[in-house]
Amino acid sequence: GEKISNPIEQVLRNKLVINIADNTLLIKKDGSKIPINDSSAPIKDEDDNVTGVVLAFSDITERKRSENALRKSEEQVRMLLNSTAEAIYGLDLEGNCTFCNPSCLRLLGYEKETDLLGKNMHRLTHHTRIDGTEYPVSECRIYNVIRRGEGIHVDDEILWRADGSYFYAEYRCYPVYSEGVIIGTVVTCLDITERRQAEKFIKNILESVGEGFIVIDKEYRILSANRAFCEYVNKVSEEITGRHCYEVSHYVDKPCYEQGEECPVRYTFETGTPHTVIHTHYDRDNKPSYVEIRAYPMKNESGEIISVIELVNDITERRKLESQLRQAQKMEAVGLLAGGVSHDFNNILTAIVGYGNLLKMHMKDDDPMRHNVTQILASVERGANLTHSLLAFSRKQVMNPKPVNFNNIVESVYKLLKRLIGEDIELKTLLTDKDVTVMADRGQIEQVLMNLATNARDAMPDGGRLTIETERIDIKEEYIKSHGFGVPGIYVLISITDTGSGMDEDTKAKLFEPFFSTKEVGKGTGLGLAMIYGIIKQHSGYINVYSEPGEGTTFKIYLPLIMAKIEEPVKEDIITSVGGTETILIAEDDDAARELTKTVLQEFGYTVIEAKDGLEALEKFMENRNSINMVILDVIMPKRSGPEVLNEIRKAKPDIKALFISGYTADAINKKKLLEEDIDFLSKPFSPQVILQKIREVIERK
Ligand code: ADP
Ligand code: MG
Repeated sequence: GEKISNPIEQVLRNKLVINIADNTLLIKKDGSKIPINDSSAPIKDEDDNVTGVVLAFSDITERKRSENALRKSEEQVRMLLNSTAEAIYGLDLEGNCTFCNPSCLRLLGYEKETDLLGKNMHRLTHHTRIDGTEYPVSECRIYNVIRRGEGIHVDDEILWRADGSYFYAEYRCYPVYSEGVIIGTVVTCLDITERRQAEKFIKNILESVGEGFIVIDKEYRILSANRAFCEYVNKVSEEITGRHCYEVSHYVDKPCYEQGEECPVRYTFETGTPHTVIHTHYDRDNKPSYVEIRAYPMKNESGEIISVIELVNDITERRKLESQLRQAQKMEAVGLLAGGVSHDFNNILTAIVGYGNLLKMHMKDDDPMRHNVTQILASVERGANLTHSLLAFSRKQVMNPKPVNFNNIVESVYKLLKRLIGEDIELKTLLTDKDVTVMADRGQIEQVLMNLATNARDAMPDGGRLTIETERIDIKEEYIKSHGFGVPGIYVLISITDTGSGMDEDTKAKLFEPFFSTKEVGKGTGLGLAMIYGIIKQHSGYINVYSEPGEGTTFKIYLPLIMAKIEEPVKEDIITSVGGTETILIAEDDDAARELTKTVLQEFGYTVIEAKDGLEALEKFMENRNSINMVILDVIMPKRSGPEVLNEIRKAKPDIKALFISGYTADAINKKKLLEEDIDFLSKPFSPQVILQKIREVIERK
């Protein structure tokens, strides 16, 4: 073709010395064409006439091919840059933009390349941190890539757009080398605002829940842990992630299942199903805590378990509350039952005592059956005493509450308690200076203290110390949550602590139940604490016990504080006018009751003569008729009843002062016409204050 002849012709025509071309094609014999690089030179004779042409050429197929390839790959790179969603831009050594792709313009909010080319990208996009502080270029991580020559991957920074808004960016930045020298960097960048928000949302959820949350891999390493878990094991998350779960929560260097512990994580890895176990942990004091551990499998797309999620929950509190609730419900049920039964039972007893006495009245003094009837009546009275305690437990007792200072109650029974517990036991009181006024039935509260002191005495057969403390405490919601009882408010807390035998868990669980006693038959009725429980409940208070075997016992009683002024005369009455120096005969067949009354009276100055049945009462009276100022007679006693005894005594000393006591109510006694209408009467059990006052009332009446 023309092209091929051209260089030769040019040589011939123009007499050029040499012509080089590299865009010619050579047609080979087989008809195929190859690109050649050719040069032609003239051949001349002596007269310098051109006589021919020398043609030299070489095959440049390879060179052409690589030139094409380069052009193609450049086109491809351009296409890639134009189509990728990642923003990509290049920087020179000064941090000025050398190129940018359309995604970069879009992401950063610029219109055309020239908005960025040659501009300092740090100043445009990276000047301020998320917290609003300045981001100096000297600290800029992108800029530092140039200095350090190492690529970076950042996902916790923001980039600023042209319009002044920002987004969370994940970017990578690599140095660009040319012949071993860094000439700039290239940055690829994505907007991860949405992803971050989703992550933050999930992280927020996990951090907010109270349950410990960890992810464990197949090697039993913790991949991540939330705040609750960190708190639970008392470590910071750096000390947890990457460690074996058994190191972190069990302080051992072998998996727990190798040591016989049931491992829910292992189970879940093996079976692919969730698994729950409850572990019991013991602290230094051997106190158990219960941890519920739930394991769930986490699978990848192909269904393979890649890790296990473990939820850790301390359920000690929950267990405690559940058992407290069960206990409270049980007491409530038993209380209802006891209340119902004892109410009916009381009526039955009233009938028995009525007819029994009628029977006895019609019997001759020497009737051989008389003794049996007396025994029946005495037993009935014991029954009446029992129903009284049961009624107290089921909160059916009539209450007579008044504002009283609790310290004052403690002070007034102090001497009595001291006598009750004996010389081997030290009695200590630690009373607060604060006002501790409560709305209470003084008599009932005294009974509570006496019963607690009696129990403490029984628990300290070899002596010890009994401490009574009062203080004021503010019961708040948290306290209620952890103790499982109460209404918020200010309470008077009375703690009664002994250094005695203490109690095991079984005893503690049952001790407020009526008829629960660990004491030998005849010694304990099992009604003391049941009664206390009822009385405290009736006072809108709470009672708790803290005790360990061998470590003594503390009972804590909470009574709501009231802001009332105590009428001073009440105190006067009770504290100063109760005692006396008279001589009193007490006739009472119940040893414990007689002993108690005697103690009370002696404590308050009286001389006491005691008798354990009607006949002995008559004999003792006759022996001491001149010194005895007053008689206290149980209505129902063996041998002679109270009214019978008084009849006899009146014959000898008509103006003798007398007081009847009985397990029945005055109502029941009067109905059966056992007593004259205007006779003084006290229903058992009574508090020391009540009988002391009654005695003064009877003696001083003209
Ligand atoms: P009782 O004293 O008639 O046995 P309580 O209801 O007063 O009945 O007490 C019930 C049981 O609680 C007692 O038998 C005893 O086992 C236990 N208990 C009560 N108080 C104490 C204490 N301070 N120390 C040890 N055990 C006690
Ligand atoms: Mg008792």
